[in-house]
Amino acid sequence: MYRSHSCGELRESHIGQTVTLSGWVAKTRDKGFVVWVDLRDRYGITQLVLDEDRTSATLLEQARNLGREFVIQIKGEVIERASKNANISTGNIEVLVSELTILNESKTPPFTIENETDGGEDLRMKYRYLDIRRNPVKNNLIFRSKVTMEVRKFLSGQGFIEVETPYLIKSTPEGARDFVVPSRMNEGQFYALPQSPQTFKQLLMVGGMDKYFQIVKCFRDEDLRADRQPEFTQIDCEMAFVEQEDILNVFEDLTKYLLKEVNGVEIDSFPRMTYDDAMAKYGNDKPDIRFGMEFGELNTIAQHKEFSVFNDAELVVGIAVPSAAEYTRKELDALVDWVKRPQVGAKGMVYVKCNADGSFKSTVDKFYDQEDLAKWAEVTGAQPGDLICVLSGDANKTRTQLSALRMELATRLGLRKSNEFAPLWVVDFPLLELDEETGHYHAMHHPFTSPKPGQLELLDSDPGAVRANAYDLVLNGNEIGGGSIRIHDKDTQATMFKHLGFTPEEAKAQFGFLMDAFQYGAPPHGGLAFGLDRLVAILGGQETIRDFIAFPKNNSGRDVMIDAPAAIDAAQLKELNLKLDIQD
Ligand code: ASP
Repeated sequence: MYRSHSCGELRESHIGQTVTLSGWVAKTRDKGFVVWVDLRDRYGITQLVLDEDRTSATLLEQARNLGREFVIQIKGEVIERASKNANISTGNIEVLVSELTILNESKTPPFTIENETDGGEDLRMKYRYLDIRRNPVKNNLIFRSKVTMEVRKFLSGQGFIEVETPYLIKSTPEGARDFVVPSRMNEGQFYALPQSPQTFKQLLMVGGMDKYFQIVKCFRDEDLRADRQPEFTQIDCEMAFVEQEDILNVFEDLTKYLLKEVNGVEIDSFPRMTYDDAMAKYGNDKPDIRFGMEFGELNTIAQHKEFSVFNDAELVVGIAVPSAAEYTRKELDALVDWVKRPQVGAKGMVYVKCNADGSFKSTVDKFYDQEDLAKWAEVTGAQPGDLICVLSGDANKTRTQLSALRMELATRLGLRKSNEFAPLWVVDFPLLELDEETGHYHAMHHPFTSPKPGQLELLDSDPGAVRANAYDLVLNGNEIGGGSIRIHDKDTQATMFKHLGFTPEEAKAQFGFLMDAFQYGAPPHGGLAFGLDRLVAILGGQETIRDFIAFPKNNSGRDVMIDAPAAIDAAQLKELNLKLDIQD
């Protein structure tokens, strides 16, 4: 028996008992006549004590020589601690060691295994197994496990069946590049790893599995903007014989259940907002509604004066920043520079200080009098003491820029509190999205998404105006889930492929299996997928998903611990019948 108790278990009630513990040496303190050892395992830390009066000289010497992270087993008596430590659960006791076995020695770890470590990110990733011994990482993994268990509990309670779908498949169009795997048995042919199990879950609906879910890895070969992973986990779901409303209700209930079970937060019902409203009010299809600062459109009141910048703009739009009228000239200049950075891309910014006495001071006083500015304040909801920030230009770009400013200022002002949860549904997404570069439309969600009833005809005349039965669940400014009601008949699906630029032959080659299936009694169906990594990070009150993944990849898609990806040897290439000819 390696252990009778864990290192987080012993309390005053155990005093007098002889126990066996196993764990890692977190720390030793040698006071000469007495040695203390902090023994750590997943459950906590227990203090061990050895001293000249009660411990043999050999044992004391052995304890003195223990290195950090040695794995040891001890036997001893639980005794009351002289100086208690209220900060840890085992802080009232210590174990007087009578036997000590070194189970394994350890090299000195390259960083300290403490809550606050001296190890930088790269080092921690290279030795992730040591990083996982640290409380913050360990606790995140335990937290993730709890969320995952609760998801399974809820969905299986609702009659969902967990079905696994294959990883070696062919392309599923979720809008990213595929990772491909060469097939040895089928020379010159490649599998694609699933960007999601989208087509398979639809086929499961044709198969009669009317409530499906799967906690599943998805693979997308995208440029890794901050906080994306090439492989990530989805809670993937699909239901048959449902309308949008049914799906929203089930997954709103799942989210409420998680918030309650995991965070102890109860939320009545989630607000709903159309995509168009979200864009108009927040410039963003995943608005953070924990705070206000809604957009106020100023076109009608700010145009047709002498200020040509506004007159020439498609959109003039502002936000009121609470209590920011006090910003100094230097701070305001810095803010203007911030919106002009290439990452944001605004040409400039107009601002209005709403003074406490009700007067206004703006950068455009030459063109607008106090009465004009009072109207701006009314439209943006600015109060005395607030600062109005106004951007102008092309409508879409300006909205995106103002949204970036809104989020930045809210972060600076501490309005994005991690223990506050503000979920909402964004509904009625456009079916198609125009790619400005190519001038082609592509599916905003994916090509299997159904247009709203009666809008199919619009596809020819005004494709950008077609709305879809597509929805996203947004939490604290993050899209944590998205899905749609699907097309379930062959003809509509064929029309959709045509509008996305597929020839009938291409559509057949790539998705013939799905269109075939639709001819054998496909039920109406729809679903959604949640990004588990992000959901867990937000529920855990943190921003980065990497901290909740046991073995994440870095921004270049590398696993620096196992050193992947890596070249494969000549024999393996030969077996695959592949020759490398790397182009620059
Ligand atoms: N397959 C979609 C995605 O990965 C989700 C869905 O439509 O159910 O975003």
